[in-house]
Amino acid sequence: MKYISLLGATGSIGKQTAAVVREHPQDFKIVALSAGRNIDLVREYILEFKPELVSVQEKSDYDQLKSEFSKEGITFTYGDEGLVETAVYHRADVLVNAVIGSVGLFPTLEAIKAGKDIAIANKETLVTAGHLVMDAAKQAGISLLPVDSEHSAIFQALQGEQEKNIERLIITASGGSFRDRTREQLAGVTVEEALNHPNWSMGAKITIDSATMMNKGLEVIEAHWLFDLPYEQIDVLLHKESIIHSMVEFHDSSVMAQLGSPDMRVPIQYALTYPDRLPLASSNRLNLAKLGLLHFAEMDFDRYPCLRFAYEAGKIGGTMPTVMNAANEVAAAAFLDGKVTFLGIETLIEKAMNHHTVIAVPDLATIQEVDESTRQLVHTLVKER
Ligand code: NDP
Ligand code: MG
Repeated sequence: MKYISLLGATGSIGKQTAAVVREHPQDFKIVALSAGRNIDLVREYILEFKPELVSVQEKSDYDQLKSEFSKEGITFTYGDEGLVETAVYHRADVLVNAVIGSVGLFPTLEAIKAGKDIAIANKETLVTAGHLVMDAAKQAGISLLPVDSEHSAIFQALQGEQEKNIERLIITASGGSFRDRTREQLAGVTVEEALNHPNWSMGAKITIDSATMMNKGLEVIEAHWLFDLPYEQIDVLLHKESIIHSMVEFHDSSVMAQLGSPDMRVPIQYALTYPDRLPLASSNRLNLAKLGLLHFAEMDFDRYPCLRFAYEAGKIGGTMPTVMNAANEVAAAAFLDGKVTFLGIETLIEKAMNHHTVIAVPDLATIQEVDESTRQLVHTLVKER
């Protein structure tokens, strides 16, 4: 039995983690969970999973739940401190970090210090401070297991292989909601259209990131940290079916790929069972004969400037990925709120990056300061529009 603490339990990845646990009650138990504002789902989780610790974002929700469940012996907590308490919960063997945004950074570092293994979906944490997370993980000797489907695919393709034999990683990209449109056709697109992803059902922010291709950019940086490879050895390939989740090419020209129906429960479960595997009856098996064809195309960096920004930010390093990520978080949220246009997202990110003077090896306090000042800058730019 593996005891799990789950950050972001009410989100897309959080719900699918709950589904994996539901399917394997003999193998997994959620002992601690955190949510944002979705209190109705927290109530359902409390009744179903009987967690020992529950954290919510707002004090008022905390007060409400505490009085409702006063007889259950649950510890309630809230806010940023609640996220940390959930991340380090003493009875958990593994933390599933499925919160969204760089708000996940501090809890991740604290969980590492507490010796927890981490299944990480929260890519923004690795983008904003990959060096801090990887150094801390190495020092503490914990396992950092990828949940993102591309990184899980690479991780699976690397089993039994040695890093020195890797020629390059090939991260596949579906192309997002607007893959069949030209840049000119992106001018007037609506939030609703952007949220309509062809292959994956995900949270709102990552669906926008997929449409701008920033998601792939974040994944390139995530791969750089997780697999300790330079950007020159990380490529992106358009693959519209999302069946090959990513690949590794070796020096002898051999390529290992991991395939499957697009279903996040598979990489979530693998991160929890590694190096073992469990059945996942509720997932669709791949039927290649029925699929017939898979398509691939080169990535066009002019069509998708956000991917170019990510390579640039990654190669510059230091605080530049922090700036890119923070600017993207605010810009994507502003688009979802109807405050900027779709193409305005990339303009805001580019402005924030151009405005920034890089600090080469930032500590946590510097990362947090740069994250905050970038958010303020982009908020101001949004207001001025
Ligand atoms: P969602 O937006 O669906 O969920 C985010 C979760 O975090 C929710 O539980 C939300 O709470 C909670 N949350 C948000 N802000 C805060 C905050 N300030 N404090 C506490 N809790 C907060 O996101 P996804 O599940 O789509 O994505 C989660 C992470 O996984 C992201 O980093 C994403 O890039 C990554 N990822 C997601 C994939 C997917 O298929 N969705 C695929 C691969 C990676 P509430 O809803 O209760 O307000
Ligand atoms: Mg992904």
